[in-house]
Amino acid sequence: MNRTILVVEDETPIREMIVFVLEQSGFNTLQAANYHQAKLKNGQPLPDLILLDWMLPGGSGLKIAKELKQNSATKDIPIIMLTARSDEDDKIEGFEVGVDDYITKPFSPKELVARIKAVIRRVTPTELTDFIEFDGLSLDPVSHRVSINNSPVELGPREYSLLHFFMTHPERVYSREQLLDNVWGTNVYVEDRTVDVHIRRLRKAIAGKGHEEFVQTVRGAGYRFSVKTA
Ligand code: CA
Repeated sequence: MNRTILVVEDETPIREMIVFVLEQSGFNTLQAANYHQAKLKNGQPLPDLILLDWMLPGGSGLKIAKELKQNSATKDIPIIMLTARSDEDDKIEGFEVGVDDYITKPFSPKELVARIKAVIRRVTPTELTDFIEFDGLSLDPVSHRVSINNSPVELGPREYSLLHFFMTHPERVYSREQLLDNVWGTNVYVEDRTVDVHIRRLRKAIAGKGHEEFVQTVRGAGYRFSVKTA
């Protein structure tokens, strides 16, 4: 099945270049040149991934990302932001609204395609189908449902993958780099601190009855999932 990528970019030559590269690589494409065109209408087929320029007329890419991630119908669509700025604060701001990755302009067609494939791979469900449970925290890989004492927990795709990895590999310390390799994939160009952002979100999502303490920081080493207190 061919994946469909929505390309949101106001600069026509760049948008056309991206569309050309993606179609050459076997993707289907949709295009939008501004904030209003990027609005996904009800009933319209959803893209599998969105490439979103940061600077757009009518409303920033960040604003669009925020709106997509707040809408239950679109929140699971992975977003890669295109930015001319390599500002760390911008990246953190983007990751906090749920952006999956960044590409800094200018980028090569090869890098673009590699990043898209990496993001698609890491949001695609893993095969392990066994129901997992630790002290009331449960994860069902078949339905992708996470719950605490039978109450559903809302997780972003990355937090879900991270929790799934932790719950299938408990009581072991993993460095940020190992987590990136295992959860994000080996062909990814994200920084170690991305892990911290997602760990923070995961803890927040499972907080309440002490379950956030299962995700433990091991100083100087990384993170560990454990039901024992650190
Ligand atoms: Ca732009």
